[in-house]
Amino acid sequence: MSGTLTLNTDPFALAKELSGKHLINGTLVAAVSGQTFDVVNPATGQVVAQAAKGDAADVDAAVAAAVAAQKEWKRRPARERGKLVAECGRRLTEHTEELARLVALETGKALRTESRVEAGVLADAFVFYGGLASELKGESVPFNPDMLTVTVREPIGVVGAIIPWNVPLMLMALKIAPALVAGNTVVVKSAEEAPLTVLRVCQILNDVLPPGCFNMLSGFGPDCGAPLVAHRNVGKITFTGSVETGKIVYKTAAERLIPVTLELGGKSPMIVMGDADLDRAVGGAISGMRFTRQGQSCTASSRIYVHADLHDAFVAKLTEKVNALKMGDPLDEATDIGTIISRDQYEKVKGYVEAGIKAGGTANACSALPTDPALAKGLFLQPVIFTDIARDAPPAREEIFGPVCCIFKFTDYEDVITEANNSEYGLAATIWTRDLRTAMNAAQRLEAGFVQVNQNLVVQPNLSYGGIKASGLGKEATLEAMLEHFTEKKTIIINMT
Ligand code: NAD
Repeated sequence: MSGTLTLNTDPFALAKELSGKHLINGTLVAAVSGQTFDVVNPATGQVVAQAAKGDAADVDAAVAAAVAAQKEWKRRPARERGKLVAECGRRLTEHTEELARLVALETGKALRTESRVEAGVLADAFVFYGGLASELKGESVPFNPDMLTVTVREPIGVVGAIIPWNVPLMLMALKIAPALVAGNTVVVKSAEEAPLTVLRVCQILNDVLPPGCFNMLSGFGPDCGAPLVAHRNVGKITFTGSVETGKIVYKTAAERLIPVTLELGGKSPMIVMGDADLDRAVGGAISGMRFTRQGQSCTASSRIYVHADLHDAFVAKLTEKVNALKMGDPLDEATDIGTIISRDQYEKVKGYVEAGIKAGGTANACSALPTDPALAKGLFLQPVIFTDIARDAPPAREEIFGPVCCIFKFTDYEDVITEANNSEYGLAATIWTRDLRTAMNAAQRLEAGFVQVNQNLVVQPNLSYGGIKASGLGKEATLEAMLEHFTEKKTIIINMT
């Protein structure tokens, strides 16, 4: 084990250890106001730690540290920065189990099916971007034979990164790793529901990176996120969250004319043609809906269109498979499905189920709730598969961010493509068919940033990822994202006459 931190795979003890702190300029500090808020284990309702409640004063301190650190960081050779970021990936790999257990505790995501996967992706993104440092290249331009004309890529300055709670580790990695490699320094604002694991990641990075390169604040959106977006010394905002908040962030950034990347919500369609492999398609619906994460995924395949030839068999098999998933303590290795993140979200999801039933839909609730008395106050919710539901019912149109999907029967291909595109969102889409022409045709016509045929993969750092329409602005992951979103292009003309 390298570094100064000791591994701590007891998430309850680690949560206490991290209680009440931001990380600013390489040091764990309390909020300037001294205020904190509760971090709750959604599986039991118990408070497991406090988090520092950041506001504008903390934002000022974190941004000042980032501004100071950037002066030296940007002057380092790019490959040196890359090596350090890759080393962060190596250290994060050593901490994978610890991070997985902590994120399972604070978000309620099952350790085996969700949290370990996420912790692995985090480390991978740092290693991936570390290796891309020497690709921060410009171009030479054949402008005039007497003038050497080149473009160079320069860092923007301080990047403000605002993340949600559903996959905090993966999303922070896709923002922070490329920003750092490109020579920026960062202030990250965690989601109020999941501040601890993000703080632990920062501690690990802090063992490798110079102080101030990377600063972390916890707090609520309007108190802590808004002043970060508005701060005059922040040169770029990269945000993942809801459409509603994305619009606020975009407006504030527009006041200062700074660039923003927005990864927002979705209501992703899944089309199952009559010739699809039934078992594969059902497996795709389970992974696509992210039932094991209680459906709390921006790309959740929550609108499932199944050809009439397969519809009844698909519904029966999907119901059987979801029923077989075991709901329980997120930290238990036997658990497939954990909890909803918060009481508010729990009530919101239940409201959508009620609205769907009221609109005439048939709600099949699957998977038994846990019976362990220790989990009696946990935010466990049965996944719901709606059938016979109107295409314009609220659960069929709006992002629920919970374990609720709607299955529609179709017969006409043109109609289903039109219907799949009939949404304000455009994040992801999948089609399941054995026919190559149908697959190619649909892949081109589906209005989404990420289309998959006969599969449902998780995000990888070398695959461009992001939405169109109301699902976002700009793409994340890949070299292209590092160049486009975390550097400024400068043209230099040297007159040689
Ligand atoms: P949210 O918009 O409520 O919060 C996201 C973050 O923004 C949090 O850190 C929050 O504190 C902060 N915030 C809130 N108000 C703010 C303000 N006025 N100024 C600045 N920051 C503010 O979203 P959420 O409920 O945490 O996350 C769920 C949403 O995120 C869903 O809509 C989901 O689809 C979306 N999401 C999108 C992607 C993607 O890649 N497209 C990935 C994950 C989640």
